[in-house]
Amino acid sequence: MTISTDRAATVRRAQQAGTLIESSDLPPTQHYIDGSFRISLAGETIAVVDPSTEEVIADTPDGSAEDVDQAVAAAVTAQVEWVRLVPKARSEVLHRIADRLADNADLLVRLESANTGKPLAVSQEDVDGTIDTFRFMAGALRATTTMAAGDYAENHLSVILREPLGVIGVITPWNYPLLMAAWKIAPILAAGNTVVIKPSEQTPLTTLKFAELVADLLPPGVLNVVTGRGPVAGARLAAHPDIAMIALTGSVRSGQAVARSAADTLKRVHLELGGKAPVVIFEDADLKAAAASLRVAGYWNSGQECGAACRVLVHASVADEFVKNLVAEVEGLVVGEPAAGDDVEVGPLVSDAHFNRVMGYLDRAAERGIRVAIGGTAIDGSGYFVAPTVLVDVPEGDECTREEIFGPVVTVETFSDEDEAVRRANDVPLGLSASVWTENARRSHDVAARLDAGTVWVNSHLVLANEVPWGGFKGSGYGRDLSIYALDDFSRTKHVMHNHSR
Ligand code: NAD
Repeated sequence: MTISTDRAATVRRAQQAGTLIESSDLPPTQHYIDGSFRISLAGETIAVVDPSTEEVIADTPDGSAEDVDQAVAAAVTAQVEWVRLVPKARSEVLHRIADRLADNADLLVRLESANTGKPLAVSQEDVDGTIDTFRFMAGALRATTTMAAGDYAENHLSVILREPLGVIGVITPWNYPLLMAAWKIAPILAAGNTVVIKPSEQTPLTTLKFAELVADLLPPGVLNVVTGRGPVAGARLAAHPDIAMIALTGSVRSGQAVARSAADTLKRVHLELGGKAPVVIFEDADLKAAAASLRVAGYWNSGQECGAACRVLVHASVADEFVKNLVAEVEGLVVGEPAAGDDVEVGPLVSDAHFNRVMGYLDRAAERGIRVAIGGTAIDGSGYFVAPTVLVDVPEGDECTREEIFGPVVTVETFSDEDEAVRRANDVPLGLSASVWTENARRSHDVAARLDAGTVWVNSHLVLANEVPWGGFKGSGYGRDLSIYALDDFSRTKHVMHNHSR
């Protein structure tokens, strides 16, 4: 491949600093336990930073195991009444939550962008998705049924019941703070459980704001938020004997830690972990459409997206043409602070530590001689900005094709036949999502079936809907978010058998 560009990416800055939120937009920076905001028993705090400006915008409690224990006790008590509500009553509460979020959508969008650096368009999609998750679960919980009751043993009537699990502990990541909270809270409450959630220590603001906004809609203790770090507050949730399930969205390492700890109490585990989505482009694909799709799917949320279209495997005969199209798309991306306009497409990375991690991958790729078609560098000035990057001619097995970089970086490898494409696409420890690009119907069915990923798109990438499940295979975890499959995961099955012989 010969295409390369030296166009340097720049950051579009906001005209006025600090225009995104005012101090009155912030939630109370305390734990939310048993229906009210409370100071932490630990007393320590964690600084919350705006990644566009590197300024501290709030300090939230560095929660302790004792804080978690208080929240769990409140959730245990609240579950007794919450489970008694008939589906219609729980559904009405979820609808009211959706309405309340919709009434405050603009505030939530700005707050999410201030805490994560996301472009406003990305936060808007997150908030729209959050509202729709509550509306979907409000409807789905009324429509779920079990197997028909019947006599399966002589003179014995079998009835199958779906029950809540009890109290569910939830741990969420920084890349979609509000949306990931909604993906758990909505089905968990719909199924009749109560919840204690620990948001990422880096991005707790919209989860606390959510609690503030819905405080009068839920009985005390049904929803509890404890802020703090993974190895302390998160670890206590995973170990707590009164928690029936721990549901974590995050990295593989955190997933392994909670699963290990959950084993001691045999609690259920629900894990949505990392991804390294292969994008398999055959010689008959619409190459322009594929490049246009990757402009979004490869760089959405600055590539800090578990389903990001980050690893292209393209047929060698069309590789140059595809890369040319992709570079043209990437050249047009608008990089900027969220307050710099509604058309900003790519923001900063979430933190200094993550910026250094992503730059480490780019520096090591350069040392190994991997060619940069565009980008490949950090962008000067405040904020954790990395130029949207395409790495080409990447050899099989290189670390940047196997490990989750989680930044605005797309790698391109080539293959020569279908079997090789499938083998290499599957040759990573993660299996969250993948896409296949071809106009051949046989190939689209066959390759989609052979790809080891929880979601496979054909001629598309990163399109989600609340009706359909999301979750991974292999190192990407187990359990499903969204859809009736999530309701199922957050419930248990009971068989009651009545002897009616005379
Ligand atoms: P992370 O694992 O560092 O943190 C996630 C959460 O786990 C945080 O709240 C953190 O405090 C907590 N945590 C960390 N160590 C813990 C421990 N020992 N015990 C209990 N909790 C612990 O992940 P992150 O950097 O916040 O998020 C990025 C990761 O999330 C990526 O790997 C990404 O792919 C993944 N992710 C997956 C999905 C999905 O749907 N599969 C969605 C979003 C993000």
